[in-house]
Amino acid sequence: MNQPIYLVGARGCGKTTTGEALARALAYGFADTDRWLLEQTQMTVAQVVEQEGWAGFRARESQALHAVSAPATVVATGGGMVLREENREFMRQHGVVIYLNVPVDVLAQRLEAFPEEGQRPTLTGKPMTEEIAEVLAVRDALYRECAHHVIDAADTPANIVTRIIAALQLARA
Ligand code: ADP
Ligand code: MG
Repeated sequence: MNQPIYLVGARGCGKTTTGEALARALAYGFADTDRWLLEQTQMTVAQVVEQEGWAGFRARESQALHAVSAPATVVATGGGMVLREENREFMRQHGVVIYLNVPVDVLAQRLEAFPEEGQRPTLTGKPMTEEIAEVLAVRDALYRECAHHVIDAADTPANIVTRIIAALQLARA
């Protein structure tokens, strides 16, 4: 198996952190659609949204997904990548999709420790925990619909990587 591995899940679930560790463990390349967008546009997510609206941002996100997809590559996706059906289909057809599932309280703890102001605009303007819960309530079903494997990701990056590799091997057996 050398299809791309797509990591999906909420902002802060560890797609970038775990993705880099997984790529090292598998000797795969690593790509991050958020990072690709940042490099292509030379703008932060907040700036793209300000200039082009959320629709413009979502269109660029699909472009990023296509551009970074390659064999033997771990792809960390943006938290909203699953919102478009075409993205969900593209990921399921072209690779293995892993949902890093993290409960709301753990997500809130991580994002409160590293809010990265400016880089990630709040979607609703509400307090962080409330917003995370609301966004996840809608997206959790989409992450599950899209994923081949749901992985418990409220753990250390090393343990999450072990769990993902076990799921991939079981699926192959
Ligand atoms: P995502 O790419 O899904 O938005 P990140 O990988 O950027 O998530 O992680 C968000 C924040 O949570 C970062 O500050 C990161 O250091 C921290 N983090 C990521 N994975 C873990 C983990 N398994 N345990 C604890 N903290 C983590
Ligand atoms: Mg990320």
